[in-house]
Amino acid sequence: MTVSVTGATGFIGKRLVQRLHADKHSVRVLTRSRSKAQLIFPVKEFPGILIAEERDWKDCIQGSNAVVNLAGLPISTRWSPEVKKEIKQSRIKVTSKVVDLINGSPEGVRPTVLVSATAVGYYGSSETQVFDERSPSGNDYLAEVCREWEATALKVNKDVRLALIRIGVVLGKDGGALAKMIPLFMLFAGGPLGSGQQWFSWIHLDDIVNLIYEALTNPSYKGVINGTAPNPVRLAEMCEQLGNVMGRPSWLPVPDFALKAVLGEGASVVLDGQRVLPTRAKELGFQFKYPQVKDALKTILS
Ligand code: NDP
Repeated sequence: MTVSVTGATGFIGKRLVQRLHADKHSVRVLTRSRSKAQLIFPVKEFPGILIAEERDWKDCIQGSNAVVNLAGLPISTRWSPEVKKEIKQSRIKVTSKVVDLINGSPEGVRPTVLVSATAVGYYGSSETQVFDERSPSGNDYLAEVCREWEATALKVNKDVRLALIRIGVVLGKDGGALAKMIPLFMLFAGGPLGSGQQWFSWIHLDDIVNLIYEALTNPSYKGVINGTAPNPVRLAEMCEQLGNVMGRPSWLPVPDFALKAVLGEGASVVLDGQRVLPTRAKELGFQFKYPQVKDALKTILS
């Protein structure tokens, strides 16, 4: 199939494009920067991949069978009022553009599938509640971002199969939260972050890529699907496992202020968690390669 991908140059997108390309799908990278995308997907390694800047997105989307929408300003940055606005606007702007281009495509060349990212921040944070796809939205800033992001994707024509993937904290070697946590961990001897009682709904990079891939190709995947591993852990356990795998003792807590110094207000993604279960993915028969955080971390850090 032919798949157009926004945010293809990011942490999840890169791995997804590699997978689609390896499986002989035709990939169109929708980016803001051709030169950046060309460095990430050199033609020698990725022959046949089409890279398009915004003025050419229309031509790419028309004729694609499916679109994956992952773009947005990284959330784990310092949150000034301007950055907060951009975190929301960047997602809504790109999603809105993608939806308009799909809806405006003439029949016959209109994509029939849209897989659009959102986040478990939709549910708000809690140390006691358990959330799945039927749970209501929270009332903090990230919940509001996710609601508006999803509402924008929901404007896609009803004859397009839409899968909204509420993604948890993605664990992988070369990016995401783990890449930022490891240096702190080295510094503070690997203790818990903050109180340690917060829930940490994580997913291995391979599993989120497999889930998106499945959503592209399997017609049963529609509506909201949580992209989280079946065994979320409290942050204290995550840190203990990370300490074990890294061969570091885990006795000195990493204080909130240290994490905030690195991530700013964006530290709330890690410090104010939620326990989210992948009920729909399980109902759909999705097989997680890494259901346990210990195995996920071992593979990532070995
Ligand atoms: P990245 O931050 O690695 O990449 C996102 C991509 O979005 C970038 O490569 C860039 O592509 C594009 N982008 C960046 N800034 C802007 C902007 N201001 N306006 C428009 N586009 C922009 O994201 P991930 O791969 O980690 O995540 C993909 C999506 O999944 C994101 O929307 C993220 O919020 C969501 N998600 C990720 C989680 C995680 O743990 N990684 C957890 C929950 C949700 P280019 O420069 O090519 O245009």
